[in-house]
Amino acid sequence: MTPDSIDPRHHERMKALVAYTAASFATDHPSPFGAAVYDAQTGGLIAQAYDSVIAKCDPTNHGEVNAVRLATQKLARLSLRGCVLYSTCEPCPMCMSACIWAELETVVYGASTLEDADPYWPQPSDVTPQELAARMRVEPRCEVIAHVERELCRDLFQQCDDVRQERGLGLPPNR
Ligand SMILES: [Zn+2]
Repeated sequence: MTPDSIDPRHHERMKALVAYTAASFATDHPSPFGAAVYDAQTGGLIAQAYDSVIAKCDPTNHGEVNAVRLATQKLARLSLRGCVLYSTCEPCPMCMSACIWAELETVVYGASTLEDADPYWPQPSDVTPQELAARMRVEPRCEVIAHVERELCRDLFQQCDDVRQERGLGLPPNR
């Protein structure tokens, strides 16, 4: 998919997500990882979340998992069919699996895990969301759209690093 063929709404929503995620820099737990779930039909925002791994001392509280949990609770249903998830960073295998279990139809991400995020937040896996989506046994398979507003999303990592160092919060885990 060439950048020109990407639905402009994906760019608008990713920019909004970047702004939302940057707001975490003013909290006690600055994070470059944010995710949002939209209704694909109405275009309405259903839920958005930062990662809260450190805040909640829970390694499963990635932004995407948090957003999926908020969205299913808000809609009071297990399936997010008809919804799109946006993430500032390429979903890890846990998060992409959560998206598949939630039957999300589309996942859109900004920064690359290994090329953009890893230098800041070391990543333990090189399994791609596209590989996991290809293994889905339900139709339609989740469509993965990569690198929407990649530079804006990538900048979040450096900005978060700067904020953490300014405030003496130390480096992210495993660095
Ligand atoms: Zn994850």
